[in-house]
Amino acid sequence: MKTYSSLNLIQQDLKDGSVTCSQLVEHYLSTIESKKHLNALVEVYADEAKTKAIEIDLKISKGNAGPLAGMVVTLKDVLSHKDHSLQGSSKILKGFKAQYSGTAVERLIKADAIIIGRTNCDEFGMGSSNENSSFGNVLNDVDNTRVPGGSSGGSAVAVQANLCLASLGSDTGGSVRQPASFCGIAGLKPTYSRISRHGLIAYGSSFDCIGIFAKEVDDIAIVLEVIAGCDEFDSTVSKINVPSYHKSANESHPKVKIGYIKETLESEGLNEEIKQSILDQLKSLKEEGHKVEEVDFPLLEYILPTYYILTTAEASSNLSRYDGVKYGFRTSGPVPLEQMYKKTRTEGFGEEVKRRIMLGTFVLSASYYDAYYNKAQKVRRLIRENTKKLFSKYDFLITPTSPTTAFKLGEHSTDPLAMYLADLYTVQASVCGLPAISLPIDHDQNGLPIGTQVIANDFEEGKLLAFSKYLMKLV
Ligand code: GLN
Repeated sequence: MKTYSSLNLIQQDLKDGSVTCSQLVEHYLSTIESKKHLNALVEVYADEAKTKAIEIDLKISKGNAGPLAGMVVTLKDVLSHKDHSLQGSSKILKGFKAQYSGTAVERLIKADAIIIGRTNCDEFGMGSSNENSSFGNVLNDVDNTRVPGGSSGGSAVAVQANLCLASLGSDTGGSVRQPASFCGIAGLKPTYSRISRHGLIAYGSSFDCIGIFAKEVDDIAIVLEVIAGCDEFDSTVSKINVPSYHKSANESHPKVKIGYIKETLESEGLNEEIKQSILDQLKSLKEEGHKVEEVDFPLLEYILPTYYILTTAEASSNLSRYDGVKYGFRTSGPVPLEQMYKKTRTEGFGEEVKRRIMLGTFVLSASYYDAYYNKAQKVRRLIRENTKKLFSKYDFLITPTSPTTAFKLGEHSTDPLAMYLADLYTVQASVCGLPAISLPIDHDQNGLPIGTQVIANDFEEGKLLAFSKYLMKLV
C-alpha cells in the first residue's frame, strides 16, 4: 500500500473506494511495528483503532463521516484521553489513567480522526531533545544517532516516520516547532488561547499551547479548524471566531511585508548553513516582489532568561500537585506523611524536572521574588510590546527555528545551558503568545533538515498558514 502524506489524498481515495480506513490502520500498524526501535510511541491502541476504522468506513459509505475521516493521529503523552494511560512521560504518574478527554482530543474524535497511540516526550514537556523521558530516548528517523528534538519528540518522529498522519503535541517554548524542524516536518504553535488547554497537563500555564504536527500545511489547517475555539472548560480560551483555516490556506498569495531580526542571524552559535539557508529564502521572497527588511530587536538576549524564570516559577507551582496522594506513583514502605511526600517526589521526578522545580521555587521565594519573578514579568511585557510594534509594520517575522540541526544523542545532556539555547528563537513567540510555525524548507549538507520559523500577529493563523504554503512552494 502506498504511504500517504496528506489527508486530501487519503480522502480522494476513500471516496473512490481505492482504500478503506481499515486498510489505512493496518498499514500504520505495520509501519509502527517495523519502526519500533525509534521509541516514538509509548502505547499503541491497535484494537481500538481497528474498531474505529470499521465504524468510520461505515459512516463513509453512508455519506455522514466527519471532516477528519481517514486521518490517523497520535497524541503526546500530556493530553488527557479518557480511560487511557496518561503519564507526561514521568515515573510519578505511573499507573494513572485519564478520567476524561480534553477538549482538543474530544473534538478530534468527534470529527472522526482515529487515535492510534500515545507518543513519548520529555518529562512534563521539559526538554529539547526527548532525552528526559522515563520511557527512554526517541531516535530521529533521518539519523538514528541523533535526537528528534523536544519536548514533543515522539510526536514529531511519529509523523516523520509515517506512524500516523498528524499528531498533537504541546508547545510551551518551542516543543512543537523545534522537533518539527529537527525531523523535517511542519509544526504549528497557535496563538495562546486559540485552543483550549482543558485536558492538557500543565507546565507553564501562561505559555502552554496545544500544537499540531503534519507533513502538509493543509493538514495542520484542517486539524486547527476542528480543535480551536471557545470552550466552557477553559476560561482563558479566546471567543474570537474560528475561521476556515483550510480555505484561507488555499487562497492565492498577495505581496507581504517581512521582517527578519538582525540579532537572530548574528547570534553566536547559529550554524552557518542554517544562516545561509534563511538568507537565501529571504532573497527569493524579495525577488518575488515582497518587502523584506532587516529589523533590530536588542531585547533578543533577554527572552530566553525571561522564559526560563517564568516557566520554572509556573512549573514549580503546577507540579506541586504530584505528591503521591492524588496521582500515580507513591514511594514504597510505611513512612511518616512528610517523608512520603519527599520520597515520592525525589524518586518520581527526573533530574531536569527537579532542577526546574528548585529554580522555580527559588525565583518565587520571598527574598528573590522582586529580583527575579517580578522583574521577568515586566521584561515579558516589554518583549511583547516591542514585538507587537513590529507587527504594525510587518505581516511576518522570519527566523531560523533552531540555531542548529538535530544534535547527537547525549551531546548536551550534561550541559543544561547548551540545551536551553536550542530554544533561542522559539521562545519569542511563546513569551508573546503569538502564533508561529516551523516549516521543513531545507537540508544541510549531511541531509539533516533545517526548519524555517514564521511568526505572525495574534490570531492570524489563517494568514500564517496561507503564507506557509506559499513559501514551501516558492523555495
Ligand atoms: N525546550 C523548552 C523547555 O524545555 C520548551 C519546552 C516546551 O515547549 N514544552 O522548556
